[in-house]
Amino acid sequence: MFFQRTLKKEISCVGIGLHSGVKVKLVLKPAAPGHGIKLQRVENGKVLTTIPALSDYVVDTSLATSIGCDGHSIGTVEHLLSAFSGLGVDNVLVEVHGPEVPIMDGSASPFVYLIKTAGVKRQVEAKSYLRMVGTVTVTDGDKWARLGPQPPSSEASLSIISHIDFAHPVIGTQSYSFSFSDVSYDRQISRARTFGFLHEVEWMKSQNLALGGSLDNAIVLDEFSVLNDDGLRFADEFARHKVLDCFGDVSLMGGPVIGVLEANKTGHALNHKLVQAVLARAESWEKVTTGEWLDGVSSGFTVPRLVMEETYS
Ligand SMILES: [Zn+2]
Repeated sequence: MFFQRTLKKEISCVGIGLHSGVKVKLVLKPAAPGHGIKLQRVENGKVLTTIPALSDYVVDTSLATSIGCDGHSIGTVEHLLSAFSGLGVDNVLVEVHGPEVPIMDGSASPFVYLIKTAGVKRQVEAKSYLRMVGTVTVTDGDKWARLGPQPPSSEASLSIISHIDFAHPVIGTQSYSFSFSDVSYDRQISRARTFGFLHEVEWMKSQNLALGGSLDNAIVLDEFSVLNDDGLRFADEFARHKVLDCFGDVSLMGGPVIGVLEANKTGHALNHKLVQAVLARAESWEKVTTGEWLDGVSSGFTVPRLVMEETYS
């Protein structure tokens, strides 16, 4: 049986908000079984609101994924949520002392480091999963995203296949396939950084956006090349980052997902549309706990093996 997981102890960091440009303190705190991931907007030591990391609370997907309630929001949550999801951490209370989660180096790797430094603790309750039993597709022009069941003989986990196509000499057409059995989230996905084009960054800054954006927290490209001195971490870092984003956005379904997600040229808006469409079609998924299906109680569902997260001590 797979059990819920939280952090062994509280841990914090400070970083720059990508869009606000302000310094933001982040505190990750252990939480009880069933708590889920919740983010608290804190200002001057006062808690303004507590927002569950669930799709119903998404308030903006235009540049990053923002969640909010009671008139307060927290921006750029997707890379932190991706790290929790990729490491199989279920229950955390996150204090965000500012308007957005700090961008750190533009990847999820600093959050993975924080979580591993705090340590991950197994809890007493079994994990629940959303297992896809039907396929849901959303489209927007030539962009599409599809979430469907795993083939019967494959592992019980989330696989993500991302395709991107940018008319740029460094990017072009890229695809990346992730599944827990053969790809390490920590080593192969979490380190992939977000990316942007110089003309977009300049335009955003003129609109008072991306004020914290720099070569320290994104891959930046001009018309021909990568401007970062150290170049890319992977030749296909762009497609890998899209997988990282999908992890974060899909985690807003409210639990780990068992299924296959294929995404073509998607961003946060279409990812969110997909999550909403799946949740609205209750016949396309079922909620299962590991104990039930490993005991064979769940209807005809057998799994050769269960690979939901990285194992490490
Ligand atoms: Zn991203």
